Amino acid sequence: MDGLIMDWDLTIPRILDRARKVFPHNEVVSNLPEGRHSYTWAEFYGRVVRLMNVLRKLGVKRGDRVATFAWNHYRHLELYFAIPCCGAILHTLNLRLFPEQLQYIVNHAEDSMIFVDDNLLRPIEAMAGKFESVKQYVVMGPATDLPETTLAPAANYETLMAEASDVENFPEIGEREACGLCYTSGTTGNPKGVLYSHRGTFIHTMMVGMTDVLGLSERDVMMPVVPMFHANAWGNPYICAMIGARLIFAGSDVQPENLVRLIEQEQVTIALGVPTIWNGLLQYLRKEGGDISSLRAMLVGGSAVPRAMIEAFLQEFGVPIMQGWGMTEMSPLGAVSRITRKMEDWPVAKQIDTMAKQGVMPPCVEMKIVDDDGTEQPWDGQAVGELLVRGPAVASAYYNNPEDSAAFTDDGWFHTGDVASIDQNAVLQITDRTKDLIKSGGEWISSVAMESAIMACPGVLEAAVVARPDEKWDERPLAFVVRAAEGDPIQPQAIIAALARSFAKWQLPATEDIRFIEEIPKTAVGKFDKKVLRAQLA
Ligand code: ADP
Repeated sequence: MDGLIMDWDLTIPRILDRARKVFPHNEVVSNLPEGRHSYTWAEFYGRVVRLMNVLRKLGVKRGDRVATFAWNHYRHLELYFAIPCCGAILHTLNLRLFPEQLQYIVNHAEDSMIFVDDNLLRPIEAMAGKFESVKQYVVMGPATDLPETTLAPAANYETLMAEASDVENFPEIGEREACGLCYTSGTTGNPKGVLYSHRGTFIHTMMVGMTDVLGLSERDVMMPVVPMFHANAWGNPYICAMIGARLIFAGSDVQPENLVRLIEQEQVTIALGVPTIWNGLLQYLRKEGGDISSLRAMLVGGSAVPRAMIEAFLQEFGVPIMQGWGMTEMSPLGAVSRITRKMEDWPVAKQIDTMAKQGVMPPCVEMKIVDDDGTEQPWDGQAVGELLVRGPAVASAYYNNPEDSAAFTDDGWFHTGDVASIDQNAVLQITDRTKDLIKSGGEWISSVAMESAIMACPGVLEAAVVARPDEKWDERPLAFVVRAAEGDPIQPQAIIAALARSFAKWQLPATEDIRFIEEIPKTAVGKFDKKVLRAQLA
């Protein structure tokens, strides 16, 4: 129609342009084995321009998949921008997957090039013989000469950068072109690829920063402890550049001691990561102490956040946890829990109950829950069903994978595989993943709720609940529990007595179904790995 508003493509180069024009002085800080590195968004911009010229010189073309195998640091951030700004596709490889999974992913994505950290060379060297499409390796680190390696052909990142031209050359990019590729973290099966577009990424970036979503500002100092290979780095690189926040990379050392030191030293205001990281930090703070008072909030997600952890951070350290629910398929944020105006007068315990739920969908995410027949269920906080989502930052299929893409239905909704209820205030509560459900005597028992309740028992460090096959009831809950190091060892009866306060009698596990183990196996990104627990059980 004549006179319609401008077509202005929503692309990553525009996020970069804003960072260098509006926030040139704000900093990106990396904690590296060789020491602290820091530069400004303006200097970052100059390096991205050079890196784009490096990529061109190495023959990267539009649509090529360029992979990274790296920790969290500024060079990885440069790749997050330079690759999509050239019209190519950034493919972040998960450092902790099994070699067979990584080989499958690199070959499935047909990666043409891999950028690898100098201290991660050995695993890539061991697999390189099986890579079918990789034509070039680039080694990243402080050295200007190439470390000894069997990878070929290989070049050194800093040497290439030193030789590169600094002439700006940004190609025209359409918002519907692909910019990134990330495989799911493999909690329930083989990793599946999600192909992001510039437009989806741009919209996700704006939506995450909004006041009632994460409420981010140029004044924030953000420390993402989530690896840059997990779920599109939770969008952090683009969010920080768009709003101009100071960005702190913890590097490869995510031990509590180092995280506390960084929070103190860099005066971090927002930290992000999965619950296991923060549970470790909590135990450390209780034992050794430390000052985390600069934090105004923590975003915790990737798996359910135990209520006891939310309570502890709030009451012992004055730090509110915002819980985020998301999926690689959703760019990744799908919901966030925050205290709303309506909740302000509630008793603290009730507020914490709500924070232990997954929260409210941000703008640009739509959701509904359906029963087994696909009938939509009411938002009454009672009805439970499979969660379906859609939106401009949600995948429409898995990358080159028609078998698994059945989860994307013709009517435009994505079947998340999560089971949930939604209440009158639009608060989402995830009760399980479809693959983790426990069905006992025809009724469901929420493994997520049971885990949270067990982890609230003093004397418990971690707990994961899975279904145990049972002749009479089909399935019964079985809890794997890790005892805390201090104090008298907690006994099964004490756990069952604590559960009896919030679970019906028929839902309670039997004494012999509480099993104490040394550690809950974790996935590559630190989630409880119930696949492994079930295999042990079998
Ligand atoms: P994978 O499916 O391999 O675990 P993702 O890392 O993308 O890969 O995980 C997405 C899933 O993680 C969601 O479908 C959900 O089951 C779980 N999840 C993420 N955040 C939360 C949360 N806050 N509470 C409960 N589950 C969560």
